[in-house]
Amino acid sequence: MILIFLGPPGAGKGTQAKLISEKFDIPQLSTGDMLRSAVAAQTEIGKKAKAVMDAGNLVSDEIVAGIVSDRIEEDDCKPGFLLDGFPRTVVQAEMLDKILAGKGRQLDVVLELKVDEEALVERLNTRIEETKAAGLEVRADDNEETFRHRLGVYHEQTAPLIPYYQDKGLLKEVNGMASIDAVSAEIDGIFKELEKA
Ligand code: AMP
Repeated sequence: MILIFLGPPGAGKGTQAKLISEKFDIPQLSTGDMLRSAVAAQTEIGKKAKAVMDAGNLVSDEIVAGIVSDRIEEDDCKPGFLLDGFPRTVVQAEMLDKILAGKGRQLDVVLELKVDEEALVERLNTRIEETKAAGLEVRADDNEETFRHRLGVYHEQTAPLIPYYQDKGLLKEVNGMASIDAVSAEIDGIFKELEKA
């Protein structure tokens, strides 16, 4: 199974992606995590990406698509994989179509987590407080101003993926405001429907 999670930053994509990855034993490919590792390791890609990421902007389509293309060649992706944070632009989605076609694979479903964005800002501020209280480091892009900028970037560059995948008949909406368990149950229901189809 190959699936994509879509939704604004802070919608809970990572949380749900992790649950699905464990349930189906397929890797969760988070481009944000991969880029943060590259930044930490100070690789060439990491050096290019750092300032862009800190400002809440998008890293170039070519860099991200290259990372994903290489990663899905690995053995653990044979049974399927889950993309969290990629594609983020229509150009990336088109690149992904080509990458998958070139490997003789195809996308099964795109799950869109629908959320109330003001509630997301509240959630973010709570998360920052909790992180600080636990004595952990807050991510450089985890502050309200950058977060609102990232929401703007999402609307401008990523939201066009919704009609893109709708037209392909791959998009399924999920209520991302429900509890983690309820969101997970709704996703399970979608998988059951897909199995029947
Ligand atoms: P995330 O952890 O998915 O919220 O991503 C954190 C940051 O990494 C984003 O704000 C972007 O700067 C960068 N990033 C992650 N995925 C992508 C992508 N598919 N395309 C471009 N930039 C990305």
